[in-house]
Amino acid sequence: MAEVLVLVDHVDGKVRKSTAELLTIARRLGEPSAVHIGPGAETAQVTLAKYGAEKVYTFDAPEALEYLVAPQAEVLAALVEKTSPVAVLIPSNSAGKEIAGRLGIKTNSGVITDAVDVTAGGEGVETTQSVFAGSYTVKATVNQGTAIVAVKPNSVAIEAAPAAGTVEAVDVTVSDAAKAAKIVESKPKEATGRPELTEAAIVVSGGRGTGGDFGPVEEFADSLGAAVGASRAAVDAGWYPHSNQVGQTGKQVSPQLYVAAGISGAIQHRAGMQTSKTIVAVNKDEEAPIFELVDFGVVGDLFTVLPQATEAVKKA
Ligand code: FAD
Repeated sequence: MAEVLVLVDHVDGKVRKSTAELLTIARRLGEPSAVHIGPGAETAQVTLAKYGAEKVYTFDAPEALEYLVAPQAEVLAALVEKTSPVAVLIPSNSAGKEIAGRLGIKTNSGVITDAVDVTAGGEGVETTQSVFAGSYTVKATVNQGTAIVAVKPNSVAIEAAPAAGTVEAVDVTVSDAAKAAKIVESKPKEATGRPELTEAAIVVSGGRGTGGDFGPVEEFADSLGAAVGASRAAVDAGWYPHSNQVGQTGKQVSPQLYVAAGISGAIQHRAGMQTSKTIVAVNKDEEAPIFELVDFGVVGDLFTVLPQATEAVKKA
């Protein structure tokens, strides 16, 4: 069976949930092999094998993570040449999309980003994307080179499938061109104790309707173990950091549950959350456009509704 390469997303020695999702998809397409770049492959291998990684390719030379993403694309390109995989799956975050683009150029292959599903189809793989703020669903295949697909986090339910799992070091000489941009400082964000926005299973977002008081939004999010998002209006007003903005010019999220509080539902906001599995809105205007796309809507003041919901969750 042909291999499917999965680029491992890891931080502080921990494999991110999106990698387990990619391995779940990879098993539908062929034999999953994980590609772990940077230190910690031996530890990661235990987790990766739980989700079916038959093999873990590892590249742990100092240049692996000292430079921006270019060395990672070179490692993947070397592995594409070595293994002729049926597909390369990469997390669809900003680094992942850049890696996918660079890999496409290096291997003369087609690239698809922001896929929400990937299945075996025809001679290769068929992807599903949700585009134009979710107005269209596009099915696409890659018909040149290797299918390089960046998949949005939270697109599939993770399925465990234990594999034996072996670790194999990859020997790649990173080119000088790939070392053009060096990371001079890398500081972790101040810890909030909340999950990362694009990885979270639940996101609670606040908009202009909060009037700048995100307290009820954060308390409700914390009662659910959720990440906190914000509309651009809230971010532009300086009420919440830009790194939490959801939408066309913010982050794209696809959680199991998305709660929009005091957000009108502008098309640019929808572009970042429309593929969420269940959408709930709290808005005091029953005509707000957000109610067109919700599964459950509450017409009411968020300062009344969210504290009540928080209490109810705490009691449950
Ligand atoms: P508003 O549209 O002002 O809506 C506030 C809502 O809160 C209203 O529906 C109101 O009824 C409700 N409300 C008020 N008080 C309460 C209360 N006490 N309780 C309950 N409800 C209440 N926007 C994004 O979000 N993300 C993006 O990435 C983004 N990118 C953009 C890119 C471009 C090029 C452009 C032009 C715009 C972009 N925007 C983006 C902006 C977008 O068009 C909207 O202006 C923005 O989403 C509005 O934010 P909002 O819903 O919080 O505010």
